[in-house]
Amino acid sequence: MKKSPYSLLKVLLLLFAPPLFCAAAPAGCAAGSRAAGPSGEVPAASVSAGESAPAETAAPESAVAETAVPEAAAPAPEAAEAPARAAVLNAAPRLGEPFAVALALPPEPGRDSPPRAFLLDSAGRRTARATFFSIGANGAGAEVWAALLAVPSTMRGGEAAVRIEGLPAPGLEDIPITVGGREFVSETIDLDDLNTALRTEPDPRKTGEAEQLQTILRRTGTRIYAEGPFIPPVTSTRRTSFYGDRRVFRYTDGSTDNAIHAGVDYGIPTGTRVSACAPGRVVLARPRIVTGNSVVIEHLPGVYSLYYHLDSIAVREDDLVMAGTILGESGATGLATGPHLHWEVRVAGENTDPDALIARPLLDRNEIFAKLFE
Ligand SMILES: [Zn+2]
Repeated sequence: MKKSPYSLLKVLLLLFAPPLFCAAAPAGCAAGSRAAGPSGEVPAASVSAGESAPAETAAPESAVAETAVPEAAAPAPEAAEAPARAAVLNAAPRLGEPFAVALALPPEPGRDSPPRAFLLDSAGRRTARATFFSIGANGAGAEVWAALLAVPSTMRGGEAAVRIEGLPAPGLEDIPITVGGREFVSETIDLDDLNTALRTEPDPRKTGEAEQLQTILRRTGTRIYAEGPFIPPVTSTRRTSFYGDRRVFRYTDGSTDNAIHAGVDYGIPTGTRVSACAPGRVVLARPRIVTGNSVVIEHLPGVYSLYYHLDSIAVREDDLVMAGTILGESGATGLATGPHLHWEVRVAGENTDPDALIARPLLDRNEIFAKLFE
């Protein structure tokens, strides 16, 4: 593809993009559910234990890996104008960091199910997966899709690849990427009777709450609420736990259990204002047994931010929020050894380092179109 279709594409984008940019209405600040009442859940444990360590910030990477199918793979004449092609943006993510996969396909009316992207480790095993969603079309009529993935913190760094499945024509080849390794903090956390019971005692309500949250987080919608980088949810920079911390919980009877910290903890006094890290829709705002008063916001297809242990909640489910909208005040509800905010980001169900989304936008439409059609 050369310049003219791309210029036309930009015009088309200007004309037709608005519906995808959801205009975020003001959050209905109201009806805080304050009840300390239980709901249910699993070990999304967030404990403010230990002291502040330097905050890690993801180094922005703009390496791009690309692959294109030979013209022979294109079945129709129009398709020859726009061969299927794919690119990985941020093709060198570190453990725990997100990346986008972009795909351009010849138009196919009535496509039943969207293609899927998989992250393969060096042994070819699938470690993460995401469903593509449409982000528009180019001037030559190619459909443009994106899938958002994150590298599990438990994966091994090194060579990896992205595989795309569900294409109508012969598939694209796997796209090689390199996953950067990193060190995670190890910590041991002593739990008192109450917190030991919260983690260890079976409770059908916890199971129910966990299943409900998993159902939400596995959902890949189609709405694009947030295209810019995220902002931190509090002004404080005092962090008491970090993304990916390898934790040992020590119970009152001396037994232990291992866990990986899924988010970032800010050690802040009860009553500190907590705000949304990006525009989106509130998909959960209620008390839960383990995570206390909790808010979950959907930002992009399969991308969610989570806020736990709030003292009070100031938004309602289905509210649209802006970056900076007050979600509530921080506290120590649920499983917490002291007042703190647990802030977490999920991408395609995977715990993701929130700092990586502050460093660079995960979905950059201009970058995607430039990489696919330049
Ligand atoms: Zn936490």
